Amino acid sequence: MSAAPTYRRVLIKLSGEGLMGEREYGLDPKMLGAIAREISTVHAMGVEVCIVIGGGNIFRGVAGAASGMERASADYMGMLATVINSLALQSALEKTGLHTRVLSAIPMTTVCEPYIRRRAVRHMEKGRIVIFAAGTGNPFFTTDTAAALRAAEMGVGAMMKATQVDGVYSADPLKHPDAERYDRLTYMDVLSRDLQVMDASAISLARENRIPIVVFDLHRAGSLAEVMRGEGTFTIIS
Ligand code: UDP
Repeated sequence: MSAAPTYRRVLIKLSGEGLMGEREYGLDPKMLGAIAREISTVHAMGVEVCIVIGGGNIFRGVAGAASGMERASADYMGMLATVINSLALQSALEKTGLHTRVLSAIPMTTVCEPYIRRRAVRHMEKGRIVIFAAGTGNPFFTTDTAAALRAAEMGVGAMMKATQVDGVYSADPLKHPDAERYDRLTYMDVLSRDLQVMDASAISLARENRIPIVVFDLHRAGSLAEVMRGEGTFTIIS
């Protein structure tokens, strides 16, 4: 018999790029379907799940600012991109039979619910998957920081950071095959060695609120369920 899940409630952080699959831009329905299946397996284990999605597959504020836009406006465009991704994931999750709610930090009540902390908790208690859209709702932040913020507000047992590789390495393992992989790191290790896993404000927020960060590869089928049981390959930051 397989082991019970390690956490009762988790927040999963997906990057926008993780939704692109083989594409250079936008959304890959096959990838969305695969991610939805991973999430439904974990939900079936009895784990309460909430999700924060990035928007980098559609728009990044920094890129908009570099091409001459006002940074705050460009960031609002980035936040709207996360709403597009949230609705796409909602649709993919509902196809697998799950009940979901999208809650946006920027109110847009004809499209989804506004973010209300106690409502989000209640949705999860009722077995719904909650997707937090529009990041923190503020420019000059990232969805990594939004993930750490919502993780703290939701009182999750861990923040599961999905990446393209199976944990944190000393350098990008796709470019440096001899890079070292870490099983375990402290928040301070990540900050002092400037390891590229989440931005510094997200790491600091997780550290202050003692939220472990589990870094894993979402592209390998079954990896999320494995990691939830404390099995397989991942890096834990605590
Ligand atoms: N963003 C923002 N405030 C937030 C979260 C996101 O302004 O609280 C904007 C920012 O422009 C960012 C974009 O939304 O570049 C997309 O988010 P992010 O870059 O974090 O996406 P990811 O890299 O995870 O795909």
